[in-house]
Amino acid sequence: MSKEQVLRKEKEMIDQAFERLLKDYMASPHGKKEDIIRKAYQFAYQAHDGIRRRSGEPYILHPIAVAHIACKDIGLGSTSICAALLHDVVEDTDYTVEDISNLFGEKVAQIVSGLTKISGGVFGEQASAQAENFRKLIVTMSKDIRVVLIKIADRLHNMRTLEAQPVNKQYKIAGETEYIYAPLAHRLGLFSIKTELEDLSFKYNYPEKYEFIASRLDAEREKRMEQYDNFSLPIMNRLLSMGFEFVMKERIKSAYSIWNKMQAKHIPFEEVFDILGARIVFKPHPGADERQECWRIYNLITQIYTPHPSRTRDWVTTPKSNGYEALHVTVMGPDGLWIEVQIRSNRMDDIAEKGLAAHWNYKKDYSSSESKIEEWLGTINDLLKHPDSDAMQFLDTFKLTLYDAEIFVFTPKGEMKTLPTGATALDFAFEIHSDIGSHCIGAKVNNKLVPLNYELQSGDQVEILTSKQQTPRPEWIKYVTTVRAKRELSNLSKQANKAFRERGESILNDIFTSLGMNQSVQGGISTTVLNTILLQFSFKTLDELLIALGKNEVTSEQLFELAKSNGRIIKDQDIYQKLINNQKQHNNLSPITSNLHICPCCNALPGDEVIGFKNPDGTISVHLRNCEEAMRLKSQQGPKIVSVQFTPEANANYFALIEIKGIDRKRMLLDIVEIISSQFDNNINHLTVSTIGGIFRAVINVAVNHTDEVKNICHQLEMINGIEHVNRIYHE
Ligand code: MN
Repeated sequence: MSKEQVLRKEKEMIDQAFERLLKDYMASPHGKKEDIIRKAYQFAYQAHDGIRRRSGEPYILHPIAVAHIACKDIGLGSTSICAALLHDVVEDTDYTVEDISNLFGEKVAQIVSGLTKISGGVFGEQASAQAENFRKLIVTMSKDIRVVLIKIADRLHNMRTLEAQPVNKQYKIAGETEYIYAPLAHRLGLFSIKTELEDLSFKYNYPEKYEFIASRLDAEREKRMEQYDNFSLPIMNRLLSMGFEFVMKERIKSAYSIWNKMQAKHIPFEEVFDILGARIVFKPHPGADERQECWRIYNLITQIYTPHPSRTRDWVTTPKSNGYEALHVTVMGPDGLWIEVQIRSNRMDDIAEKGLAAHWNYKKDYSSSESKIEEWLGTINDLLKHPDSDAMQFLDTFKLTLYDAEIFVFTPKGEMKTLPTGATALDFAFEIHSDIGSHCIGAKVNNKLVPLNYELQSGDQVEILTSKQQTPRPEWIKYVTTVRAKRELSNLSKQANKAFRERGESILNDIFTSLGMNQSVQGGISTTVLNTILLQFSFKTLDELLIALGKNEVTSEQLFELAKSNGRIIKDQDIYQKLINNQKQHNNLSPITSNLHICPCCNALPGDEVIGFKNPDGTISVHLRNCEEAMRLKSQQGPKIVSVQFTPEANANYFALIEIKGIDRKRMLLDIVEIISSQFDNNINHLTVSTIGGIFRAVINVAVNHTDEVKNICHQLEMINGIEHVNRIYHE
């Protein structure tokens, strides 16, 4: 083909993609403003003309695809579709927001401008700037939620086409997606998009694991469909005989959720029993109450199959806070498998698939779930009003708000409060008032005394006990989970620290004076002196030192001691160097090689899937790929990711933590030690054992060189009489 022929073919393909979008738009409940959408397409087409994506395809296909997702999967209208078509024009061409405004109006221009501000990935080159960028996204979102919805559509298409990107970019983008976009989609009720985002990021985060699960699913597909047919036929017959108009379909668990379950329960693929499920979407009978119809279908199913006593989920009476409504029941199918059936009306299904945007179509009757979203946006605005928290912290706190599982608890007077799952008695205290929280000494739950970190359950009645003498304690931050309590505690500790810091400052100044050194906190301290002190006491900043001095955690005697031992606070470079080296050893900075630093949060071993992060001093931190800390770093510090060749070294001392549980008996510990040290000849570095109520638990720190060794050891330990569980754990 000649070049012209190729171009003509391409133009045909582009026009077809656009016509498909238009067709879906015209069929949607919006569907009237064809002209403006055509105009936006033509404008975007000529603006991006001649530009190609990395994959080689014409650039314009990307905005068309994003607009298509916005239309079909999210259910947005013409303003959003235009904005999606134009979303990269300002960023990538010479056109400005004003041009867009003149041609397409203020609304479209505002959305495009919002999308332009946060382009280039939420996270740019520097960690803090990245998080700042993210804050911008949220600010824009609280003004017009469509910005975020289109951003999610943009991300979904980028994930679908991630293959074309270089590997390090794939990691970064997939990490970001898993860390923030999938939870965000979930929070906004975009359930199917969330599932796809998770599955795609899983595919790029762990290619081998994804491949393994996908191929297993494929191999068993036929068997599964047979099971499904056996299961569904009797139900469909009954539904038909009752005059229901419905669609019943199989549901296969996504690779990502299968893997999650394997991880959480420490089970192999074969033992994941709920891979097959079913969904019924029905059209309510005219005039019938759709909720009651859900229960009618429930009754019909449970007359055929026995339901699991504790696995009925009623999101019909109380919808989830992201708007989700459905009735879930798990029943024993004919092949001896538990199968979950989701029962939804057309309207419920629309909301479940398209989330928030679908609510707008049903606004009149069902405003309750929408107001929950607004409540959430209110929390976000509240967060934004406290600019003192830094951007990174903001990102982490924001992420907390993305989980929507909730519990309902009651005050002594019977007033209901909604808290996130996992909330503690102390969270509840802060929820009532910050004064109650900060003076809290204990709580009574259902009239029984409980500790502050007691995890509340739905239905609990909670009474908070306070004392005027009580002040917040440092460990409290570990007891709370809600955004509100965390923020209050961090404000309170800032106030308290201010006083300690002032005291510490005057102590330090006094020391300098009595040593005859011409230095002070305000007037400046020489770098050598400051670093020497910080290193000696393991502080990162002067502030930390001053606060510790103020709290008497470091005493002036200790500082005098240091001055004495270093002859008037070190001038000698040698001693200084020694101190630094000593400190490095202390921090475990270089036990393996000069370059790799195994992070204690996950204790990676050769044989694990690992990932490295470049530190400013040139060393590389090694994390497991599924370590939570690594996920966080990956999404925030993408550019610092390096791949790590992780080979065992002759005299390296790697170690693994092995957790063993079982029924206690005589000589149990001896049998365990026998296997590890005699049979395998591995060193035991450390060992903790406890027996509570006849259950034996040991955590053993074993010196090893490779994950294979750990597997072999675990396997042998499992054979010991009375042992129920042997697992490698990643930290204590
Ligand atoms: Mn884009």
